[in-house]
Amino acid sequence: MKIKMKNSDSKSDPKKVKAKSTAASGLRELFVDQLKDLYWAEKEITKAMPKMIKNSTSEELAQALTNHLEETKVQVTRLEEVFASIGEKAVAKKCEAMAGLTKEGEEIMKGTQEGVVRDAGIISAGQKIEHYEMASYGTLASFARVLGENEAADLLEETLAEEKNADETLTQISDSINVEADEEEAETESQTVSQKK
Ligand code: FE
Ligand code: ZN
Ligand code: FE
Ligand code: FE
Repeated sequence: MKIKMKNSDSKSDPKKVKAKSTAASGLRELFVDQLKDLYWAEKEITKAMPKMIKNSTSEELAQALTNHLEETKVQVTRLEEVFASIGEKAVAKKCEAMAGLTKEGEEIMKGTQEGVVRDAGIISAGQKIEHYEMASYGTLASFARVLGENEAADLLEETLAEEKNADETLTQISDSINVEADEEEAETESQTVSQKK
């Protein structure tokens, strides 16, 4: 199937992104670049998660995050296997998105009282991270498949399944925590009302 390209005059359009001299010209280069990005992202997550675990009040949430932290450490080494399988050196390149997502997680913790409300916030931050990872692994597995890097594709799909599972676990936990967080607010409000009386 041939893809129809729209014709555009790039030189005169200021909204057209000008490529750097080092820019990827093929799918393989794009694949390797994004692999480096994801490698940095996974390492960043292993640094950010202990704080999220420490700040969780729900035992179920803390346990789920602890399990996924252990899983994440394996994912880092699995990415090293991906690099090896395509004959590339494992290099980490800063992922601006993950740097932002973990920073936002910090802000959410600072902006919430410890307890179920902060737990709800931690879950929201965690799920945003999982979704970014799902998008990344899904894309990279597809790139790998097209490039004929089947071992890499299998490894990436293995992690993709773990990320989906982690996301689903957080959704399950959020079902009860979000309701409790809502009740907590109702309680605080009624306390404030009774204090005013
Ligand atoms: Fe991960
Ligand atoms: Zn990134
Ligand atoms: Fe945001
Ligand atoms: Fe994850």
